[in-house]
Amino acid sequence: MADIFDVVIIGAGASGLMCAAQAGKRKKKVLVLDHGDAPGRKILMSGGGRSNFTNKQVRADHYICSNPHFCKSAISRYTSQDFVNLVDSYGIPHQERGHGQLFCEGSASQILDMLLTECCRAEVKIKMNTPVKKIEKLPSKMNSNNPVQFRIYTDSGEIDTASLVIATGGVSIPGVGATPFGYQVAAQFDIPVVPPRPGLVPFTLQPADKTILQPLAGISVDARVSSPLAVFSEKLLFTHRGLSGPVILQVSSYWQPGQTITIDLLPFNNLVDTLKDKQGSHPKKQLKSILYALLPKRLVNIRLEGFPADRPIISLSNSHFSQVASAFHEWQIKPGGTEGNRTAEVTVGGVDCNQISSKTMEARKVSGLFFIGELLDVTGWLGGYNLQWAWSSGFCSGLYV
Ligand SMILES: Cc1cc2nc3c(=O)[nH]c(=O)nc-3n(C[C@H](O)[C@H](O)[C@H](O)COP(=O)(O)OP(=O)(O)OC[C@H]3O[C@@H](n4cnc5c(N)ncnc54)[C@H](O)[C@@H]3O)c2cc1C
Repeated sequence: MADIFDVVIIGAGASGLMCAAQAGKRKKKVLVLDHGDAPGRKILMSGGGRSNFTNKQVRADHYICSNPHFCKSAISRYTSQDFVNLVDSYGIPHQERGHGQLFCEGSASQILDMLLTECCRAEVKIKMNTPVKKIEKLPSKMNSNNPVQFRIYTDSGEIDTASLVIATGGVSIPGVGATPFGYQVAAQFDIPVVPPRPGLVPFTLQPADKTILQPLAGISVDARVSSPLAVFSEKLLFTHRGLSGPVILQVSSYWQPGQTITIDLLPFNNLVDTLKDKQGSHPKKQLKSILYALLPKRLVNIRLEGFPADRPIISLSNSHFSQVASAFHEWQIKPGGTEGNRTAEVTVGGVDCNQISSKTMEARKVSGLFFIGELLDVTGWLGGYNLQWAWSSGFCSGLYV
């Protein structure tokens, strides 16, 4: 005989726990299933262990989605302030960092503990170490006098439920339990998936660039980086493997293999003007010395390769100035690729939102089946937007399951 629940949620992560707590508060009998041995493992990793749990400014244009309007409803019905109010009600101290990002002052575990307490108060049952073997949609004739719509098969038995929520997240960091399970469920019900790819991920370099740039590992500078679909200004970090730092992670979510990125190493400077000024005020100064005052020496030396770096600035022409400016303002690099799911913070793409109700997160063509969180084709920028999407989509679905 199968256990019967009103709601079964597969995935005890950010969105699944939020959905469970809301559904439980509505007196639904809720079960959360997860194949891992501990809930919320990505919450614990988030924000370097301090969880950048939301952002003060959350708008639809902070998200990448093939339907740019899709997330508007959920993020306006459960806002970042709503989540901050919840965090405050638990007395969890937090702080604002740049760009409106809100972090715990203590530890990300406080956010997870808060969600688990919310679930406990709402009498949600959480069952870990329980992989799902099969999901079956029960024949509609059985449904006429019976709310049960799905049967879930696990090693420890069968579970029947009226509503089934898939909250298994994206595929980045398989080491903490990420799987493509949610995409397989979508395929089972003929719901299309926008091809998933790693997002918020460092770039690797082509072998020739790697040889040249490896000595820069550890250097971090302010930069503006553009790709054909996006421009961001933040810190750029050179690493042993390639390029990282917030500006690269942001651009990576928009990048397609083969595309070239353009790096402006002096986004707050007009180098032609600076060089002309110095020509008047310090005519004997070497070109390289002027640039050493603006950027790390090792980086300047690499970008000045082939230029008369040792010559006094007075001996250089306007044409030299514009070529040097281009080397620093318009440095073009074609990344070799990305570090992939091993280090990506999110998955871009996912279950096609055009098949999902933006109000309830229910699949349009399968009554009782819901998809939430990162599993959907909704990817936030770096800065707390992905967790906010998990909270908003989890909360809204919790009102309708
Ligand atoms: C290192 C790192 C740092 C991050 N930092 C931040 C940050 O500071 N701010 C921010 O906004 N976002 C951050 N993110 C992104 C954020 O953590 C995710 O977007 C968010 O957790 C997604 O929530 P979710 O509920 O969709 O999925 P998840 O939180 O990933 O939860 C999915 C759950 O499903 C379970 N599961 C998977 N497959 C199966 C299966 N086959 N059967 C049963 N259960 C399954 C998993 O075990 C997991 O518990 C970070 C991500 C990473 C990897």
